[in-house]
Amino acid sequence: MIRSSIDDKLVREASLRMPSGCAVPSDGELAEREHPEAAHPYRHPFDRDRARIIHARAFRRLAGKTQVFTHRYSDHFRSRLTHTMEVAQIARTVAGVLGLNDALSESLALVHDIGHPPFGHAGERALDEALREHGLRFDHNLHALRIVEHFESRYAGFRGLNLTLGVREGIIKHSRDYSAAKNPELAEYFLDLRPPLEAQLIDLADEIAYLTADFDDGFEAEILSLDETREGVRLFEQFYAPIQEAYPEAAKRLVLNETLKRVLNALVDDLIVETRRRVERSGVERLDQIRRVPGRLAAFSPKMEELRLGAKSYLFDHLYNAPELTRDHEEAAEVIATLFRTWVAKPELLPPSYATQIEAEGAPRVVADYIAGMTDQYILSHYQALQIA
Ligand code: MG
Repeated sequence: MIRSSIDDKLVREASLRMPSGCAVPSDGELAEREHPEAAHPYRHPFDRDRARIIHARAFRRLAGKTQVFTHRYSDHFRSRLTHTMEVAQIARTVAGVLGLNDALSESLALVHDIGHPPFGHAGERALDEALREHGLRFDHNLHALRIVEHFESRYAGFRGLNLTLGVREGIIKHSRDYSAAKNPELAEYFLDLRPPLEAQLIDLADEIAYLTADFDDGFEAEILSLDETREGVRLFEQFYAPIQEAYPEAAKRLVLNETLKRVLNALVDDLIVETRRRVERSGVERLDQIRRVPGRLAAFSPKMEELRLGAKSYLFDHLYNAPELTRDHEEAAEVIATLFRTWVAKPELLPPSYATQIEAEGAPRVVADYIAGMTDQYILSHYQALQIA
């Protein structure tokens, strides 16, 4: 068992500080909030953040957002909400086995996709393209931070959810590094330092969850072919063949389920073993050391990484870019581009709470914020109303 990257006792003693002038935040500082709040008698600050995320309106809207398949296909497929729950259970398991702070990991998993616009990646691309025409970009991590810091409105004393520094840092850094020079507005998140292991493992838990789920949903949608997948995906076939041999009478669907269960398990096992190995080899024991290691310590082994990339590129070729999904992608692009153009040209059509932000943020950013928060159905209803008008 490796030592926790975050010392629980220190987190509870939030008054602890690193020596002044030190750029490395201490464990205790990760539990601090922008607006100080009294300690809860029995709930840890990260437990409270998890609850705040689950109770957020943006979290509930994940139920109405596409992961890969729109509801045109079936109600059995993952939505962004059920995907998020799958990531959370994987992240909590990995964090628990590694002796990390599982409440921090689970909170980060629950919030990791909260900044995604409607219509999955097609929607994100369309929104980014619309913003580029105004010299801006759409980034779902940065949008997630705007949601928890500004758009959620639940407290009388301040805007946002007043989440701990540890969760806000993880929202920014869980999947990629941002340059300090290009993002001066993010200076408080010590961009030149690696995030805690609890945040590092979120991106990998996300990869595990969607890789296995997308095979599952892809077969269910009859877009992926079983024979081609067995031939083209080593990570899949290495489990499928022995299960089929062990259960020759079993329905294909059940052999498939058993296979994907084992693929998921193999990825989780590998992530745990490889991360532990890297931590031990690097000799780090404390968060401030983890932060200064040049690369990320949470990782798959090179062998598993190769298998995973093979499976992922197969999904790109045979599922994400499949002709069967083209209609959805084109519709997403059309709906978002049309509404974006309309609202930037006529911002008086926006709800007052957004319209009042235009002076400070400019119409393109405010319109993108408005669109990014919508569910698939809600943005479609706006689009249809526009066609009728
Ligand atoms: Mg995700």
